[in-house]
Amino acid sequence: MDAVLFRNGLVLTMDDAHTVLPGADVLAVGGRIAQVGVGLTAPPGATEIDATGGIVMPGMIDTHRHLWQTAMRGYGADWTLTQYFVWYYLESGRHFRPEDIYAGNVLGALEALDAGVTTTVDWSHGLQTPQHADAAADALESVPGRFVLAYGNIQQGPWEWATSPGFRDFVERRMRGRLGFQMAFDVTGDPAFPERAAFEVARELDVPVTTHAGVWGATNDDGIRLMHEHGFMTPSTIYVHAATLSGDSYQRIAATGGSVSVSTESEQSAGQGYPPTWQLRDHGIPVSLSMDTSVWWSGDLFSAMRATLGADRSREHLQAHGRAETVTHVHLRAEQVVDWATRGGSRALGLDGVVGSLQPGRAADVVLLRNDDSPVMFPILNPYGHVAFQAQRGDVHTVLVDGRIVKRDHKLVGVDLGKARADVERTVEHLIATMGPDAWRKGMNPDIPATKILDNPYTYTEWTNT
Ligand SMILES: [Zn+2]
Repeated sequence: MDAVLFRNGLVLTMDDAHTVLPGADVLAVGGRIAQVGVGLTAPPGATEIDATGGIVMPGMIDTHRHLWQTAMRGYGADWTLTQYFVWYYLESGRHFRPEDIYAGNVLGALEALDAGVTTTVDWSHGLQTPQHADAAADALESVPGRFVLAYGNIQQGPWEWATSPGFRDFVERRMRGRLGFQMAFDVTGDPAFPERAAFEVARELDVPVTTHAGVWGATNDDGIRLMHEHGFMTPSTIYVHAATLSGDSYQRIAATGGSVSVSTESEQSAGQGYPPTWQLRDHGIPVSLSMDTSVWWSGDLFSAMRATLGADRSREHLQAHGRAETVTHVHLRAEQVVDWATRGGSRALGLDGVVGSLQPGRAADVVLLRNDDSPVMFPILNPYGHVAFQAQRGDVHTVLVDGRIVKRDHKLVGVDLGKARADVERTVEHLIATMGPDAWRKGMNPDIPATKILDNPYTYTEWTNT
């Protein structure tokens, strides 16, 4: 049986007590965590990995990413959500062929693994045909990470694709394999509630629904109320963003046991609403973290943890200053966001007995943060603070998924990055050729609104003119 032993690291177990073990070892045997403790004995033939000076933690869990969009990495850096909707939903999303979905998914999946994100929900809403869906699933199965395919299709109403023979056939062929499965669609708030048919399919298949809820200008309290009134809010439902909801909606989410996937960088930059961790705290709603899409941001949860702490604290200070008060103790702690990046995800996905913590019997999804060449990797005084505010993806030294080494010494193992690159290049060429180079350039460079410099009473024209 394959055994891997991490030797002499600072171990964040992320168990219920958040046990931290300095100078400890983590032993994985046969795909599972066998032991966590000091001075473990390596079984014969075990691969030993020196974790001295590093942090050993559970693989991180991203509960919301549109992996297919990774082929356009960074293209939408200056977009708002409106420009995103126009590009993907209205104008150009339909140009993606099955091989483009494949290319984006492989690249995004590799990006996640490389950053120590061992479980990712692929909110895959570019599945225009069953061939697109097969391409998405093929891609996820080709990368040795843990993935949940959340099936969606922005080119049709969910009541159309979810009830189609093609979707049903896909489910029968592919749903019971290694991939996790969810259904991904949004609820517009139309009083006729046409999404009901899709919810009924999800209930029949016994799969969770994940939905963009509380997105400024797109989804609101009406969608939550309709879901609730029709009995479709469940503990396995993941509400993404949930940033512009009223207290009534948060109460309905809390009462039905669902969780919220907070994509702080996305909410801050695209404009879904203010990252809602402060509201979720007040309502006792469980939180997981996500990176949404690499068309803006890279898919690593270090960014998510850092941005989430910043957004929550920034708002807390700003609110207090508005009342002429001073915050002396912040609510949101580094330890909490590390929990959200691990246990928050495992709980949201119903996988808490499988992943999210380093405990005997759990799957061996393990990350070692160690970078001997980095002045930022010492001293490690506050381990949670170090993970959330100091570490970054370049510090991910080793990654295990199910006990298998998928990254070692800062390099992905057994991965054909050259093929992934060539595939993505073909997708980019296809998009440029289909849209035309001018439209491609214009899409990346939205107009900048005019800025009026305020009149400044301290400006002396005599001085500036001499
Ligand atoms: Zn999204």
